[in-house]
Amino acid sequence: MSRQDLLRSLPGVDTVLGWQDIRELLSLHPRVRIVRAVREVLDECRRAVLDAADEEAARHWVESHEIARRVAHRVGKLAVPGLRPVINATGVVIHTNLGRSLLDTESLESTGKVAGGYSNLEYDLEAGKRGSRYVHVARIIRRISGAEAAVVVNNNAAAVLLCLNSLAEGREVVVSRGELVEIGGSFRIPDVMARSGAHLVEVGTTNKTHPEDYRRAITERTALLLKVHQSNFQQVGFTAGVGLEELAALGRRMGIPVMNDLGSGSFVDLSRWGLMKEPTVQEAIGAGADVVTFSGDKLLGGPQAGIIIGKADALECIAQNPLNRALRVGKLTLAALESVLMHYEEERPETIPTIRMLIAPPSELKRRARRLQRRIREKCGHVVSSEIKPGVSRVGGGALPLQELPTWVVAVNTKGLTASALDERLRRASTPVVARIAEDRVLLDVRTVADAEIPLLVKSVTEAAMAPAEA
Ligand SMILES: *Cc1c(COP(=O)(O)O)cnc(C)c1O
Repeated sequence: MSRQDLLRSLPGVDTVLGWQDIRELLSLHPRVRIVRAVREVLDECRRAVLDAADEEAARHWVESHEIARRVAHRVGKLAVPGLRPVINATGVVIHTNLGRSLLDTESLESTGKVAGGYSNLEYDLEAGKRGSRYVHVARIIRRISGAEAAVVVNNNAAAVLLCLNSLAEGREVVVSRGELVEIGGSFRIPDVMARSGAHLVEVGTTNKTHPEDYRRAITERTALLLKVHQSNFQQVGFTAGVGLEELAALGRRMGIPVMNDLGSGSFVDLSRWGLMKEPTVQEAIGAGADVVTFSGDKLLGGPQAGIIIGKADALECIAQNPLNRALRVGKLTLAALESVLMHYEEERPETIPTIRMLIAPPSELKRRARRLQRRIREKCGHVVSSEIKPGVSRVGGGALPLQELPTWVVAVNTKGLTASALDERLRRASTPVVARIAEDRVLLDVRTVADAEIPLLVKSVTEAAMAPAEA
């Protein structure tokens, strides 16, 4: 049969809808979804017939059982939301591609209540009139940071942009050459600076910047001294920088405000649990910075947000900027953030999932790895071989780049499948699993897998190992 004949032999939409296999889908899916799937599959078949290497290959695309199989598959895909939960078996705790931080159940519950009902978002219940959406979260941020005032925006990139625009538009901002950083996903200090309308004045060298460098750069055009946390890299060797305290003192002497982009921003000193030291938010305020910005969903462990804190006059100017309205956060973020911050206020940061995963002791991880391996052996031990091995997890999110977190992984492989083929099947499983590959095995790092997720993870591993090869 020629390709034209093959195309003519493709059934119409109504014909396919009448097939028994397809009618059975109606008990599980709305008709509109099935119609869409049929249309899309028939389009796909039409294109495939024209693109096929030869007529023999083209013939395959017009067979009715093939069309029915594809429709059923597509209907299933259309039924799941595009954005959905995955299991993070990479061991990277603050994984930006996988949503960074998880909310604890308390925060989920309080966020859910605000989401599902009316709230006093912008209503002052005592005065009986309009209020500000920021007072709720600002109050708790002030209490735990020691800052005079706080504003919350969409993310830390927005926070930096808003601060620079509010405090330095048309004027100069002095930054060390060692701190002109790029954070993943196109956030670069010089570019954000340009967009804010402020002019960047670089001082010092890549490896060394001295107080004198800042002092000499200050003119009547200077609006701000900016210190940026190096977040995702570290300099070693012949290096020198100016500490925040020293920079703040210089700013005070010269009458110029000092801003600190902290990046991650943590309210607890993680060295308490033996991790490397990151500057805390309280230390930045204590050092005398006028404005400090940081992320809500990095080490803090909350929702995506950019938090701006500092002196009342600088914050007033930032709050009044019309750009603030464009960068504002919704009630879900505010509810989640306030709830997460309560963990810090109540001095129980280890109940925040991000912190809990970062400080999980190796003994606990080894127990979880053993449990995972036992379940894998029970469910699919005949096709999956597994071994428990020590490994290294990462903090992620551009925080503590050199920190190695000793962990335990379950290394799995399946006869007849390469590690990358197994990895791909895991990503396509009904609950997708994202893992690492090393030495031709897939490594499942249990640091970022909750105990409650183990049954689902085992189900996905079983599905991936037993699935027939993709057509
Ligand atoms: C991560 C980071 C940002 C951007 O923060 P987001 O919350 O991802 O927008 C800005 N500055 C520094 C130093 C960072 O580490």
